[in-house]
Amino acid sequence: MQEEKKSQAELLKEQLLMEPKNGGLNYTDDEFELAYGYCDGYKAFLNAAKTEREAVAYAVAAAKAHGFTEFDSGKKYTAGDKVCYDNRGKAVILAVIGTRPLSAGAHIVASHIDSPRLDLKQRPLYEESQIAFFKTHYYGGIKKYQWTTVPLSLHGVIVKSDGTKIAVKIGEDEGDPQFCVTDLLPHLAREQAKKTMSEAIPGETLNIVIGSRPFRDDKVSEAVKLNIIRLLNEKYGITEADLLSAELEAVPAHKAVDIGFDRSLIGSYGHDDRVCAYPELTALLECDHPASTCVCVFADKEETGSDGNTGLNSSFLKYFIADLARPYGLAGRDVLSRSKCLSADVSAAFDPNYPDVMEKRNAAYINYGVVLNKYTGHGGKSDTNDASAEFVAEIRNLLDSNHIQWHMAELGKVDAGGGGTVAKYIANLNVDVVDVGVPVLSMHSPFELVSKLDVYLAYKAIGAFFAA
Ligand code: MN
Ligand code: MN
Repeated sequence: MQEEKKSQAELLKEQLLMEPKNGGLNYTDDEFELAYGYCDGYKAFLNAAKTEREAVAYAVAAAKAHGFTEFDSGKKYTAGDKVCYDNRGKAVILAVIGTRPLSAGAHIVASHIDSPRLDLKQRPLYEESQIAFFKTHYYGGIKKYQWTTVPLSLHGVIVKSDGTKIAVKIGEDEGDPQFCVTDLLPHLAREQAKKTMSEAIPGETLNIVIGSRPFRDDKVSEAVKLNIIRLLNEKYGITEADLLSAELEAVPAHKAVDIGFDRSLIGSYGHDDRVCAYPELTALLECDHPASTCVCVFADKEETGSDGNTGLNSSFLKYFIADLARPYGLAGRDVLSRSKCLSADVSAAFDPNYPDVMEKRNAAYINYGVVLNKYTGHGGKSDTNDASAEFVAEIRNLLDSNHIQWHMAELGKVDAGGGGTVAKYIANLNVDVVDVGVPVLSMHSPFELVSKLDVYLAYKAIGAFFAA
């Protein structure tokens, strides 16, 4: 069979125009096998690390198993050394010292390990009409109606006034009880249905059902509440007052699963931003004697604006770099000013059910590989790091030369809304930063979707950045 000759226009088009393609057309079956296999590990991580504390514990354990030692701020490290700095059990930095001098800067990748959820209030326990509840204050940006009638598990810590710390994780193991928020039956929801989505479920109705069986004694009031605290006392040795110094988080109890007949997608709670944290962690664990000093940051508090001492609007990264630099006679700023960073966070994937909020030519698409956002923020390019053309060109070249499919996007139409990442906080330290991540469908819902190919390509992309 003779190959059809291409017309001059076709040739020109190939040469001059850009035509993004579905990654399914660019990668072989063998590469897909690798991607699917890699994602089995990712699903296990999703199930094991639903909160920032659990993600830190997972990362620290994995790092120690790979030869990382606890960071000693007075020590002069040498090429190949691997260190781990655990910030209060809620954020963590891992680093592998490179063969190039630290004065050349570091290659930093930063993701976040907190996700939207329902936090218990500090005085959560009450009884109403003989049902016991926990009151909550939602954490991060949620559509409140999505969190009713979803089985929930409870994670976190209770710290008693003597400092004893009790870890809580209930609703995850087979046979564990779970919890949930109720919703109104449709038969009686005529008035509720007329309300706007944000008003239909007021924040103060996101109360979690935790029991209904009274303590058997006619003489006490609130016998259901009493029975619950009796059970908590038996299990954890706590009293109601101990909840004042607790951090308890209710998250969806379901596990990560394959979605679709072709198993091309993963449905789970917390892809944002574990879908970048896991590639970052696995890429760093494979770093042995890299040229550049490679630094992984897993931050807390991104979903509430990065404030607080475990968030990236604080100084913990700056201090870590300064401590790392001091034994070499360098100032932290000398290292930071020459460092490069990928802010690894998710992007909204184009959803054909809701095309109106997206500008198709500058949207992220699932299966199109990793997504770069030169800027995030909102209308008028406010509240954002706007990466320089020079740095975008450098990352573009890195991805292209490593056969890693990527595309450029921004978060929705100019006036549709917006969102931010940790990029601007790191850029404010005089680091070159660009947002790179994975497109997500149903972002911030209890059940988000990502493509396995994209997850795998994020791992490849971060690996290439560390190796550069
Ligand atoms: Mn995020
Ligand atoms: Mn988010």
